Amino acid sequence: MKRHILIVEDELRLAALLRDYLQQAGFEVFCLHNGLDVIPLVHSQTPDLILLDLMLPGKNGMEICKGIRHFSNVPIIMVTARIEEIDRLLGLEFGADDYICKPFSPREVVARVKAVLRRTSGPLSEQMRGLLLDKDSYKATLDGHDLDLTAVEFQLLYLLASTPGRIYSRDQVMNQIYPDQRTVSYRTIDSHIKKLRKKIAQAQPDRELVHSVYGVGYKYEN
Ligand code: CA
Repeated sequence: MKRHILIVEDELRLAALLRDYLQQAGFEVFCLHNGLDVIPLVHSQTPDLILLDLMLPGKNGMEICKGIRHFSNVPIIMVTARIEEIDRLLGLEFGADDYICKPFSPREVVARVKAVLRRTSGPLSEQMRGLLLDKDSYKATLDGHDLDLTAVEFQLLYLLASTPGRIYSRDQVMNQIYPDQRTVSYRTIDSHIKKLRKKIAQAQPDRELVHSVYGVGYKYEN
């Protein structure tokens, strides 16, 4: 499964250059150029990492970062030419994971993206209490029991577990699991969730990880 990187950069040529390098490195990349578009997009389709320029039209990178942290732990790398802002950027106030100074080499950006992904989304193990998700092999284990998930079930669990407590509507789940915009019915999503919960219950009957939120969607809580 390819990791999704969101580039937010109003300098179009720079955005295109970064996109090319990241695509070559095997990432799925999409670009936004206006600060106002970022939070709605992150709400509807959680990227795996955001490269966020500080100075943007519409809404600046700090406000965006702060806004995203209200609902998501997605890794954020701030991109800035303002060295004096870096301490603030990395502070708790805004919650960015790393920063890159302009001017930079695209190679450096790719290396930094990989490093942050390794650090933040490697094994989600610490907060997961016995749940291990290996995104490369689609293998999920709970307290040492192999859950034996299908690819769709794995992606569902990965999506929900990567932001514990966040409620996903069925539409959001659909956008994430079927990025090619293939339309599936709500019932299909529900049935995958049902099977996923059954497999978790079979492995550990006393652990309920995936919860239905009536009339809204699903969430992960461990
Ligand atoms: Ca800019």
